[in-house]
Amino acid sequence: MSAKTLGIVIPAFNEEKTLYQNMQKLTHVLSGDRIDHRILLVDDGSSDGTWEVIARLTAESSRFSAIRFARNFGKEVALCAGLRAVSGDYVLIMDSDLQHPPRYIKDMIALLERSGADIVDGVKASRGRENPLYKCCASAFYGLFRRVTGIDLRNSSDFKLLRRPVVNAINALDESHVFFRGLVSWVGFKHETFSFSVDERIGDTSRFSLSRLIRLSLDATLSYTSKPLYFTALAGGIFLLFALILGIQTLYTFFSGSAVSGFTTVILLLLVIGAILCASLGILGAYVARIYDEVKHRPQYIISEQKTHEE
Ligand code: UDP
Ligand code: MG
Repeated sequence: MSAKTLGIVIPAFNEEKTLYQNMQKLTHVLSGDRIDHRILLVDDGSSDGTWEVIARLTAESSRFSAIRFARNFGKEVALCAGLRAVSGDYVLIMDSDLQHPPRYIKDMIALLERSGADIVDGVKASRGRENPLYKCCASAFYGLFRRVTGIDLRNSSDFKLLRRPVVNAINALDESHVFFRGLVSWVGFKHETFSFSVDERIGDTSRFSLSRLIRLSLDATLSYTSKPLYFTALAGGIFLLFALILGIQTLYTFFSGSAVSGFTTVILLLLVIGAILCASLGILGAYVARIYDEVKHRPQYIISEQKTHEE
């Protein structure tokens, strides 16, 4: 296979049950494909025995190293931390539950080298078994996200292969709230897509609850675009137009002596304008909160422990 080394970043959050077997499977496939690899595990503040499993992996093999967060900072942040610490000419991002199947890795590397691309994006050909509510929310989110940002993230995934310059470019970005797929798309470079079918998550369910998914979509939108701020201006414009038309009509009825009535209109207008004002304030507030968070300049994550193989 390729003479380049492959660094793999894998975030793990409460994965004690499956992590060990999954990592065994992964290294087995990679060794079979003769890919020279290093695996960096990021323990995203797990509250179960994930760190002990990781300690065992790093003790057994020099291919493993790991960092541990002081608390759960979220997958997006874990990926950023992983990218800063990982070595290798190529860097692969994948999930610890092997829903991003290792058997595709050699094809992704081949595609990267053959096409001369800098980034290979794994695209889900089928989304695997997901609960219908999750599926529905994911599709609503991607639809909204595409409309607001102009980027199509549908079926996109965090299964990505990056060349070193891309990793360096992402590491140079200095934001505290990140949406990883948004960053990878923002830095540019030459992309190739690789379509794969998602495997089942064995013995467990997704770590993302509905509320986490909603938070992720908010984070994604707020960190990627400031368009919603202009929506408020647009709403203002539309209402100005209505105000003009209704204003003229009101003045006309007043001067022609047939005023009064129109109580319904007043109530409706009050309600609609009130709602729009509140919504606009909410959008403004969301961005102000972000600015506040960014100017505090807190570190994106806190590493409590690191592990490498000791001879
Ligand atoms: N994960 C993480 N931090 C979190 C939630 C998830 O590091 O707060 C990791 C998790 O351990 C897994 C990957 O992100 O390796 C994807 O999570 P999961 O399989 O639960 O998500 P889904 O497959 O539903 O996208
Ligand atoms: Mg999964």
